[in-house]
Amino acid sequence: MSGYFIDLKDLTLEKLTFEALFEPGIVDFGAENIRQIGDLDWAASAERAGVEIRITGRLDTTVELACSRCLEPARIHVSKPFDLFFRERDEVMFDEDEEVALADKDTRTAFFTGTKLAISDILREQILLAIPMKVLCAVDCKGLCPTCGTNLNSGSCSCRAQDFSPHMDSLLEIKRRLEKRSS
Ligand SMILES: [Zn+2]
Ligand SMILES: [Zn+2]
Repeated sequence: MSGYFIDLKDLTLEKLTFEALFEPGIVDFGAENIRQIGDLDWAASAERAGVEIRITGRLDTTVELACSRCLEPARIHVSKPFDLFFRERDEVMFDEDEEVALADKDTRTAFFTGTKLAISDILREQILLAIPMKVLCAVDCKGLCPTCGTNLNSGSCSCRAQDFSPHMDSLLEIKRRLEKRSS
């Protein structure tokens, strides 16, 4: 499936609005190891904003991905508004001056095919942006034993837990976040 599009050929000064319900699995996350498991309820409106097209809307769905601690499936509900600007591909510009086109290339033109905007690709990107860095199957997920890999939610092992404590885990997480922020 090549995706779902909204056609903006009738977009003049008036806003166009769209809404739909995409059944589970419609949004294809490819190799991201994420699955859309709930209906994707979305609405969007399109309006001209100078040379750009402004798309505002909201989406609501449930996705499943691997728990950051135990790797078992974790479900999260994603609900977010979006406010994006797109530019229609200007074929003349691309043909006449490849250099300028490349230097000035707005990746957002990639979502356009003629007057059609790839709404399913946009929704996929927005869902990915909304997924937190760390997703847990349960707030108290015990994770895997760092030594033998046993899932400590469903079993126990005879390894000593000397290198691992939830407290140490959260300290490492804070350290990681600080490093991310300063880089
Ligand atoms: Zn887990
Ligand atoms: Zn173990």
